[in-house]
Amino acid sequence: MQPRLIEESAPVPLRPGEFARRVLAWFRVHGRHDLPWQHPASPYRVWVSEVMLQQTQVATVIPYFQRFMERFPDVRALAGAEQDEVLHLWSGLGYYARARNLHRAAGVIVEQHGGEMPGTLEAVQALPGIGRSTAGAILSLSRGEPQPILDGNVKRVLARFHAVPGWPGESATLRRLWALSEQLTPGRDTGAYNQAMMDLGATLCTRARPRCGECPVNEACRAAAAGTQADYPGRKPRKRLPVRRTRMLLLESEEGVLLQRRPPAGLWGGLWSLPELDAEDDWRDWCARQGLAIGQAEDWPVLRHTFSHFHLDIQPTRLRVRAHPGGVMEGERALWYNSRAPQSLGLAAPVARLLSRLTED
Ligand code: SF4
Repeated sequence: MQPRLIEESAPVPLRPGEFARRVLAWFRVHGRHDLPWQHPASPYRVWVSEVMLQQTQVATVIPYFQRFMERFPDVRALAGAEQDEVLHLWSGLGYYARARNLHRAAGVIVEQHGGEMPGTLEAVQALPGIGRSTAGAILSLSRGEPQPILDGNVKRVLARFHAVPGWPGESATLRRLWALSEQLTPGRDTGAYNQAMMDLGATLCTRARPRCGECPVNEACRAAAAGTQADYPGRKPRKRLPVRRTRMLLLESEEGVLLQRRPPAGLWGGLWSLPELDAEDDWRDWCARQGLAIGQAEDWPVLRHTFSHFHLDIQPTRLRVRAHPGGVMEGERALWYNSRAPQSLGLAAPVARLLSRLTED
């Protein structure tokens, strides 16, 4: 019997600097060089794009980024805007805390840094909503500073390349990945290298079916050698998401549908939503307390909206308002919304879906 040649599948180690050299060579030919935030790659544009890209794919982000830049071409325009307008331009991207933090950080940049993105990693990281990786991306992509990054794509490439076990949400795994990123990131061409690593993760080292045959670091990759790409990065330990229930009222009067603005912090903070009751509460009592006379009533099918930590089952109830006390339902925190001629408001995603269903009827 022939001895088993395990060396055949063992990865070939790369000399220091060789990893970056190969990744950069691949990037020059295959990388993405025409993304809208690369022309020009100013700190403001890179920052906005990085925040939009945190939980969202490039193809989805591009039109949002372009609309955002048309309306807020620089940090002063963003700082001077109403939060509502910022949230409106963000509607559909989700994770609205990102937009609120972006707006707050623009105010800090204008008030405390003369309208310029600060120059040190610590000062950039001190801005609302900017973590270490985003700060590193802003400084390296826009100013060429030698700062490593560790976004989702880079985590996946490094976890596979070095076969790092564990879920990156755990601090020991994260520390190990940061150490590898620091070690591999070159002191020169850092912006191009960081973009290259993001591109490699997004286009070759993809979550499903990575194209290892085209990868510039293939023969040194531990996961590719062992055929265990799917094991990295390790998954979050599974937890069944709890289910919460709520009732949303679609109150229709001659003026439109009643919307209420949510408190600035917390779920859908600052966005406009429908009046909400506990799922078990009787809407008749609620309407009577508001002085609303109701005609027809109809329950719609339950709509499930999933957040990262729970499912929200929404029972929509459509109610025709025959009479309401004028003025009581309007002001800073409530308005009648005309869904056929929509205003520029930030709407919670399931609310936008329910309102568009109303216009279909
Ligand atoms: S060889 Fe495959 S698994 Fe390894 S880094 Fe390249 S694309 Fe990712």
